[in-house]
Amino acid sequence: MREKNCALRCLVFVGWILHPRGVSIAANLTKIQSRIESACARVGRDPVGVTLMAVSKNQPPERVMEAVGLGLTLFGESRVQEARIKIPQLPNRLRWHMIGHLQSNKCRDAVPLFEMIESVDSLALAQEVARIADKRGKQMPILLEVNIAGESSKFGWNPERVLEQFLEVNQLPRLEIHGLMTIAPYATDPERVRSVFRRLRELRERCEELLGAPLPVLSMGMSGDLDVAIEEGATLVRVGTSLFGERPRVVRELDETA
Ligand SMILES: *Cc1c(COP(=O)(O)O)cnc(C)c1O
Repeated sequence: MREKNCALRCLVFVGWILHPRGVSIAANLTKIQSRIESACARVGRDPVGVTLMAVSKNQPPERVMEAVGLGLTLFGESRVQEARIKIPQLPNRLRWHMIGHLQSNKCRDAVPLFEMIESVDSLALAQEVARIADKRGKQMPILLEVNIAGESSKFGWNPERVLEQFLEVNQLPRLEIHGLMTIAPYATDPERVRSVFRRLRELRERCEELLGAPLPVLSMGMSGDLDVAIEEGATLVRVGTSLFGERPRVVRELDETA
């Protein structure tokens, strides 16, 4: 009888561990912070120079609040429709970056919602963001998203194009270019994308020469490859899955409006 009871308790315990809601953001955050620290230590960087962004796309506001409770304040969203509904439900003091492809017709909503648009991926989009920002009298910090590996499935500037058009973007009213962003190709072994991160860092140096001023932000590295990205100089890592667990496919709060 006692044995049976014990077995049952074990089962309940295992079930609790494996239950998706049992995924602890706190434990995940500790792991990510130690990955950041180790990567910095390997290359002699100060971890203070690496900002962790929590990618909250597809996560309901309650999950975001859990992360807020652990001290996280910077969040990334990839769809304007989702951000428009989610951001107003959360405390004002949080900071939001747009990290997904932005369509021109969504700029009007995106400019007031976000502290930074990381996914400015063409001159035409930069011009549209500038036009809207100017209309609203808002300075708009941006990053230029570069498609380093030239993947046809991804958005982003071709690296040579960035150099050709950098000064033109820089002259647009209200835009402040803070740096560059990239999404590395998917790889089971992150060492295989190290060169992508290195090339983004080198491209930033060339942009800094053109500009004659520093560009402080290198946004690169996600759940699978943030360690290598930090070793190559990332100042901002964008982490979703390793923090929140697998992303829900359906965004509940959007159901009523879909
Ligand atoms: C979804 C997303 C991330 C986070 O990816 P994970 O692998 O879940 O950490 C980072 N950056 C961008 C641009 C994304 O769209």
